[in-house]
Amino acid sequence: AKATGRRRYEWYAKKMAEETRERISLLADLKLALDTGFLQLYYQPKIHLASGRVVGAEALLRWRHQQNYVAPDLFISVAESSGLIVEIGSWVLQQACLQSKRWRALIDPDFKMAINVSMGQLQQGSFANEVAHLLVDLAIAPSALEVEITETMAMLDADSILPDLRKLQQMGVSIAIDDFGTGFSSLGHLQNMPLNTLKIDRAFVQELASPEMASNGKKAIADTIMQLGSNLRLSLVAEGVEQQTQADYLKQAGCDFAQGYLYSPALPAAAFEQWAVQWQE
Ligand code: C2E
Ligand code: CA
Ligand code: CA
Ligand code: CA
Repeated sequence: AKATGRRRYEWYAKKMAEETRERISLLADLKLALDTGFLQLYYQPKIHLASGRVVGAEALLRWRHQQNYVAPDLFISVAESSGLIVEIGSWVLQQACLQSKRWRALIDPDFKMAINVSMGQLQQGSFANEVAHLLVDLAIAPSALEVEITETMAMLDADSILPDLRKLQQMGVSIAIDDFGTGFSSLGHLQNMPLNTLKIDRAFVQELASPEMASNGKKAIADTIMQLGSNLRLSLVAEGVEQQTQADYLKQAGCDFAQGYLYSPALPAAAFEQWAVQWQE
């Protein structure tokens, strides 16, 4: 039994070492990708359910590495644990703001671009200032930008990020809580956060597909989130909308915006632009 235990330990240690080596080499390649323009932003449209119009997008990072796309969840976790996310995040911010300005002129005058922001970026304590300077330099309205933070971030370390979030909201940038319903927010806490938007996590949207699911627990959660959002006067975005029946349900339940494969996956800038101009007609 002892021998088996040792063998299992050695196997485990070897696997850990392999994983560490992989992450280190991935990190080096990721740095190179950032410097040589191999990171790209794709854009997924956001639809205003009442009017059916495209009113914004979420910017999502893509990395094409040795002919393949690396999953964002993987390379972003590597970037986060190394601190490289700060530099990548600045690049994302600038690209996304420039696109938003362009699409205000081309797609919708109130176009709003949402970006995902990691804890490491907010913990620098200078994120709000960076945004303020960028918006002034590029002559972009603060309302052209929305910042998505996850529910877990908002709950785990609220004290260190609240001042920056307040500054952002005061200057007119929207703040959204991403993946809402998957964390453990206390309602009292939520009420003290500077928030504009709740994004209902895909897991709860999926269960809205058929009327037979009326007694499903996840549907009850989606309903509760929508009720909460409307009571707190927040706008509501549903993510991962794949079927028309989901969109119909969300619309009658008072959800404001929807994004998901029903409309379009995230697309490169030029393809997004084409898609959106056609959609608006
Ligand atoms: P997220 O912010 O929750 O992004 C939504 C994810 O759902 C995206 O995956 C998107 O492609 C996918 N999705 C959109 N519509 C549908 C649908 O109808 N059905 C299904 N099944 N999936 C859908 P993606 O692009 O792989 O991104 C994964 C995560 O990576 C994001 O989750 C976000 O947390 C992170 N991420 C992406 N871009 C950035 C970035 O620029 N900065 C940071 N910090 N994180 C990012
Ligand atoms: Ca997001
Ligand atoms: Ca999300
Ligand atoms: Ca999610």
